[in-house]
Amino acid sequence: MAEPFNPIEHKAHTVRERLAAALRAHPRLVYANSLGAEAMVLTDIIWTHLPEIDMFSIDTGRLHQETYDLVEKLQWRYRRPLRMVYPDAAALERLTAAQGVNGFYHSLQARLECCRVRKLEPFGRAIAGYDGWVTGVRHEQSTTRGRAQPLEWDGEHGLYKVSPLLEWTEAEVWQYIRARKLPYNVLHDRQFPSIGCSPCTRAIQPGESRRAGRWWWEHPESRECGLHPRVRPATAQA
Ligand code: SF4
Repeated sequence: MAEPFNPIEHKAHTVRERLAAALRAHPRLVYANSLGAEAMVLTDIIWTHLPEIDMFSIDTGRLHQETYDLVEKLQWRYRRPLRMVYPDAAALERLTAAQGVNGFYHSLQARLECCRVRKLEPFGRAIAGYDGWVTGVRHEQSTTRGRAQPLEWDGEHGLYKVSPLLEWTEAEVWQYIRARKLPYNVLHDRQFPSIGCSPCTRAIQPGESRRAGRWWWEHPESRECGLHPRVRPATAQA
């Protein structure tokens, strides 16, 4: 008898197909693991089915303890270490000498400089030499991400950007996580739908957008770290 149709399994199959197709076209792919809920889906699919795709996560030095606990859980579940990429030590010393250890609260410029040193520079180093990078962005996360394509040229970083989860809803992400009993960041159970650095992330209140807890003291228009720019740098390419 045929298996009953399972919408999440069908969507997961599409993700695998998209990643496999991207790999055939662009053999050197790397997944920039954000350690958010979407990342648990992609980590499971990549480490279970497509281990040829490299994976890393950026340790800014300001992550929550719960995030480090999650990295440990992933390593135990999949029996392989997640490569952690760190900021340049000398650049970090210059940053804190110039703006203090919590200078990011003082101005948008200081916050962007902290994100540049702690996230963007390590990210650029980690993706150097690859044909494309994989990300877990979804259309419903923001208006900017609503315009993303499954495979597009990332002109800012000079390689392809592969976004296989675009059509997934948040509920579907959690359905996949629960069905497979995947590890996830326990902060998600405390009203943290989007998790970044500890000093720059707070829980959200009922009715707030899912990214309202990121850089909550800033105007909503500035609330990105730069990895997913608000204006796409180039047109989509197949
Ligand atoms: S999120 Fe906050 S602590 Fe983390 S890199 Fe950006 S400004 Fe710095």
